[in-house]
Amino acid sequence: MSVGGPTLQPVDLTPMQLRTLRDLIAADPVPADPSPFERIRSLLEDRLAPLRRHVGGPVWLGKHRLTDFRRCPGSFAAGLLGEGQPFQHSSRTSAGALFHKSIELDVVTGRSADPQSICERAADRLSDGDAAFGRYWSGLDALARGEVVAEAGRHLILFRESFPPLLRRWAPQPELPLKALLADGRVILSGKPDLVLGLPRRLIIDFKSGQAWPEHPEDMRFYALVHLLRTGLPPYRVATFFLDSGEWQAEDVGEETLEHAADRVAAAALAAFSFVDGGRPDLHPGRHCDWCPRRASCPAASAWFAQDVTGETSAMHGLLPSGEPTYRSATLDPGSARRGDGAGSLRDRDDPPAGRGPPLDVRPGHPAGPVR
Ligand code: SF4
Repeated sequence: MSVGGPTLQPVDLTPMQLRTLRDLIAADPVPADPSPFERIRSLLEDRLAPLRRHVGGPVWLGKHRLTDFRRCPGSFAAGLLGEGQPFQHSSRTSAGALFHKSIELDVVTGRSADPQSICERAADRLSDGDAAFGRYWSGLDALARGEVVAEAGRHLILFRESFPPLLRRWAPQPELPLKALLADGRVILSGKPDLVLGLPRRLIIDFKSGQAWPEHPEDMRFYALVHLLRTGLPPYRVATFFLDSGEWQAEDVGEETLEHAADRVAAAALAAFSFVDGGRPDLHPGRHCDWCPRRASCPAASAWFAQDVTGETSAMHGLLPSGEPTYRSATLDPGSARRGDGAGSLRDRDDPPAGRGPPLDVRPGHPAGPVR
């Protein structure tokens, strides 16, 4: 069989389609693809080549696990090895899950129903299809369910007030599952961005109800990478949208963005297999220890909390590549040091100043910061 002749020129195809044509369908050679797709994929496959000989796996990497790796490899290892309690919803996380499901229904129904009806229907769907949500939902009485629906409904209203009606020709895709396999399937990258718009080039958006955090731009760069590996095309832009304020942090996706994301993935994947083989992770204690399953027995965390009196959200191994705290507290009163969830100065951090448009400081290698 010869395909790719006069009626189907490679120039008509996306890089992903070209790869399928070249490696699966075509009998005759098809020219190599010079796009970022092949270059970034080759870069990753070369870095991860040693993992192909590994008998274990696969290792799944998503945005949360990559954040764990950046904060502390010990916490990352704990997650890989399944330590800690299984995830359980709270009223806040259940409202978030319900909001994301509600967007899905809102998009496909063209905003034809009122927000409360959308959210109630979404809760029915989610309690059937999502085991964690279903467990939480079945334990609530009618009033508590109403609170969750109301919270999700508030965010749905903010979404509608912030975005124009999403035209069908934009091919809006809420919760689009993306997956990419590397190193002969030893490493699986997966993600599900909140909203994807456009074809074939896309805008990828995540919605947040809180404030900006350094991991948000890194999350979006990861989505850009997985989208590239899955579809052959990078999104033209990625953005985190803050529903409470209507502001956003956006980044136009270039090769630098993709290389940065690929570098993070490669480092985490190689470390993951070394930990599975018994390697000992470096420990980088900080405020994030509060959420780590090894917190109670970790000597690095004990030492760090014993000496820390600043109440900052991050310290010597902080959340930013520069080592600087992300959002500094207004006061450094030692008496306000945060010792547990919901106490102390962490609660008092200001949101970033308002603004719009792509900030300079979300480029790869730059810490996230207030939008400008
Ligand atoms: S408790 Fe802190 S330092 Fe220890 S492994 Fe967990 S995140 Fe790392």
